[in-house]
Amino acid sequence: MHDEKILGLQCRDCGALIPEKDFALSCGKCGAPLRLKFSPDYLRQELAKGFPAPDSRSFLREWARFLPIDDPGVIDTISLGEVETRLLPSLRLGRSLDVPALHFKLEIGPTLSLKDRGTALCVLKAVEMGRNTLCLSSSGNNAASIAAYGARAGLRSVVFVQRDVSPAKMAKCQVYGGHVVVVDGDMAAASALCAEMVSSRGWFQCGGPNPYRVAGKRMFAYGIVRQLGRAPDTVLIPCGGGAGMVAAWDGFSELYEAGVIKTMPRLVGVQLEACNPTATAFAQGKETVTPVVKKPSLSDAIMNNNPCWGTYCLQAVRQTGGTFISVSDAEFIKAIKDLAAMEGIYAEPAGAVSVAALAKLRAAGFGDPGLTVCNITGHGLNFPQATAGDFAIPAPIPATVEAVEAFLGA
Ligand SMILES: [Zn+2]
Repeated sequence: MHDEKILGLQCRDCGALIPEKDFALSCGKCGAPLRLKFSPDYLRQELAKGFPAPDSRSFLREWARFLPIDDPGVIDTISLGEVETRLLPSLRLGRSLDVPALHFKLEIGPTLSLKDRGTALCVLKAVEMGRNTLCLSSSGNNAASIAAYGARAGLRSVVFVQRDVSPAKMAKCQVYGGHVVVVDGDMAAASALCAEMVSSRGWFQCGGPNPYRVAGKRMFAYGIVRQLGRAPDTVLIPCGGGAGMVAAWDGFSELYEAGVIKTMPRLVGVQLEACNPTATAFAQGKETVTPVVKKPSLSDAIMNNNPCWGTYCLQAVRQTGGTFISVSDAEFIKAIKDLAAMEGIYAEPAGAVSVAALAKLRAAGFGDPGLTVCNITGHGLNFPQATAGDFAIPAPIPATVEAVEAFLGA
């Protein structure tokens, strides 16, 4: 194992450290989630050599020095050609929102969402550990992501969902060969059964508490700093379960502690008004998150009423001087249309909320966000229904140049 590189798995609450070979999903002493803890000396030395160059085969190859990868050969057995995601400067939308230095981080992997970044490392570790079944509880993008990577790796994927799950969402998982287990109960019941299969059958949990998922996702921060050549001032991150926020905090913190960046970005969490338990806890000054009852929303992503990373999202946002913003369905639908028509970027509802929140930042008293990155977490094709009703096919016109000009009002 890589002792000089990784100190072990460290509890995020009590600080207990266990060897990585004793892999667990939570602290044996207090039950809190674990963080894959890299040696600060190792990170400082490696980062002093500069960031690695992009690798068109897989970002796992490119970032392997900063990931728990012993044998790069395993990457070829699980890879779907995931490459570091694009960072695009805004050409119009930023100016219209009075955020001129706005960038979009398009976290859209081979299965069209951000989930692939964490899944790729989870599945690689499952192969290294000789596990034969991947599992998680999810009704959305994560289900498709593990089913696709499971298919690629030749592993079985099992997804636990609650009753009344959307058939359209599950079809994407099933076409990759994923097994969908519909539990007679709510999402909490589905998650509990998944956890039981992990503990009793040795299945590999690819969901929420897996420290490798967060370790993989933290390269989001490394990618942004390499692409910008500096730290952003503000990063807006959609928060459902909250793993993405915690991973960003981990990644930017490592770069700050190694002296690569001079300041920490302010991290802004974004939730939907229909389900905003972490934003509510933040506004109330609480240190833990109380589950809420979901209200109806057009989006069913980031609608997590009992987020497993909520406590740590609150810490990330408070310690970096950020905030939480909640947006309505009407606001994210406007953001989807604006992003598409003004920038050529088609996002799903959960992916567009970071842009919707930007329009509300100043009103929330945030001040000038400076060099800003909005995390766009999924492609619009994951949920085209969000805006489909707003567009109709126009009536046919005569096949003449004049009729085209009359139709366009030119
Ligand atoms: Zn602990």
